[in-house]
Amino acid sequence: METKSISGVAEAMFAVHFWAGDTRNHRYLRAQLEDEERDTFSPGCTQNGFVIPARWAFRSELSRELGDDRDRARDCRTCFRRPR
Ligand SMILES: [Zn+2]
Repeated sequence: METKSISGVAEAMFAVHFWAGDTRNHRYLRAQLEDEERDTFSPGCTQNGFVIPARWAFRSELSRELGDDRDRARDCRTCFRRPR
């Protein structure tokens, strides 16, 4: 399966948030986060089909958006995996 989500253009489509549910940083689609009607969010690792879709995060469980100064030791390996 291709991992389209982690290349240049897609970079802008995702925001990084710390999820209290499993104490990891995941990538979330900005389109999801910007939908104010929406309460639950699935991280990139779920959308790639690697993880069972039990990992829905509630808005209240997500941190504010994180930048490059985040604690990378907490990055979800699947969300941040690089193609090839
Ligand atoms: Zn993830």
